[in-house]
Amino acid sequence: IERTLSIIKPDATRRNLTGKINAKFEEGGLRIVAQKRIRLTKEQAGQFYAVHKERPFYDELCEFMSSAPVVVQVLEGENAIARNREIMGATNPADAAPGTIRAEFAESVGENSVHGSDAPETAAQEIAFFFSGIEIV
Ligand code: ATP
Ligand code: MG
Repeated sequence: IERTLSIIKPDATRRNLTGKINAKFEEGGLRIVAQKRIRLTKEQAGQFYAVHKERPFYDELCEFMSSAPVVVQVLEGENAIARNREIMGATNPADAAPGTIRAEFAESVGENSVHGSDAPETAAQEIAFFFSGIEIV
């Protein structure tokens, strides 16, 4: 059993899509074992996405991630990291498989509705960034 960090991004919370996105996770076999709605500052978004600091879209990404509330959550299940990335679909919604969250809801490669950890080490770091152990049940 594995855990991954998920974020429902500002484009999705703005359009009131939290429930529809959570249904995709649950129908896909993942359990939401922690969840909270928060508003990131631009500095906090920058810290979370520090790995992308040198990418041309970094500033735009930090502006976007702090532009409205997000829902941060821990998803648990068999191969949760890979499973979540399947449920999300490709980063660019134009390339995302039918039925995936990004195919159905994302607006662009930047405003793409969800984030998911990409490896066990990043999942552990990202979960610890937002949650303490007793918040995950
Ligand atoms: P995430 O890390 O959010 O789950 P990902 O792993 O599919 O997405 P990354 O390459 O890690 O994609 O990029 C992180 C985020 O940066 C993307 O989800 C997207 O919001 C934004 N991003 C990536 N590429 C671009 C781009 N070319 N233009 C604008 N924003 C981008
Ligand atoms: Mg990523």
